[in-house]
Amino acid sequence: MENTLEEIRTLAQKKRAVILAHNYQVREVQEIADFVGDSLELSRKAKSTDAEIIVFAGVRFMAETAKILNPEKKVLLPRSEAGCQMAEMVNAEAVRRLRKEYPDAAFVAYVNTDAEVKAEVDVCCTSSNAVRVVAAQPNKRIVFLPDRNLASWVARQLPEKEIIPYDGYCYVHNRFNVEEVRLARERHPEAEILVHPEVPAPVSLLADKVLSTSGMLEYARTSPKSRFIIGTEEGILVRLLKENPKKAFFLLGSVKVCANMKRTSLKDILISLKEERHAVELPEELRKRASLALEKMISL
Ligand code: SF4
Repeated sequence: MENTLEEIRTLAQKKRAVILAHNYQVREVQEIADFVGDSLELSRKAKSTDAEIIVFAGVRFMAETAKILNPEKKVLLPRSEAGCQMAEMVNAEAVRRLRKEYPDAAFVAYVNTDAEVKAEVDVCCTSSNAVRVVAAQPNKRIVFLPDRNLASWVARQLPEKEIIPYDGYCYVHNRFNVEEVRLARERHPEAEILVHPEVPAPVSLLADKVLSTSGMLEYARTSPKSRFIIGTEEGILVRLLKENPKKAFFLLGSVKVCANMKRTSLKDILISLKEERHAVELPEELRKRASLALEKMISL
């Protein structure tokens, strides 16, 4: 493994490449990455980097987002088949249909969508900024897609808006249930329960805090509390434990794993860098249209 690490570092330096990894990636990928974060942080990083190549250890919509924001750079997705099941639940045709049904609504898409969906909506959001993005829309009515759970969380924060949710969900977060919360409270009554807004509404209603992954990391770092129960994909534990060695973290219920987030290995990163394979390509007209919704989000 040491050899692979060394080879990746040397190649990345030689090719002026930056490695970005999502908080849900496997430990060794998080450790080799130049930057680890959530979707919003990674979008910002992708936009500000002066590297010539971006290696995106994540899933397809994330690498696509990096490409949309950096058309002049080469963006590599080490495992081309790493998709996101939630992103696949909606397409451009569905958005166009809803546009006809709700002509007075603003259309807000979670970044967990394909470029063709981003190209059809008014603005994108991530779990960190969804409430702020929806609040900033002048329209009372908002069609929010594709995650019905995030939509429900946003609707609870903004009762003045009429949120129309699309019926998508994340198969990983949707598995959390209220029984897991009840058991966790019983076992660790002193711990705070932090959950991701992609969990079902009955679970987020029982949690102490509803936070994006970057929100959880920030909260755990700054909170005077020392024990936390974490309701999101298990990969987040790598950073939580590393950044808070004196605090204790327990997973909420059974271990929840996103199979696509776990596909990328160090070897995939090395091959991807060596052969510059699986470069993300998008038709320029589509990229331009999709960039409008993303740039709008970043400006907010
Ligand atoms: S955790 Fe859920 S939303 Fe994130 S990539 Fe996996 S399936 Fe998609």
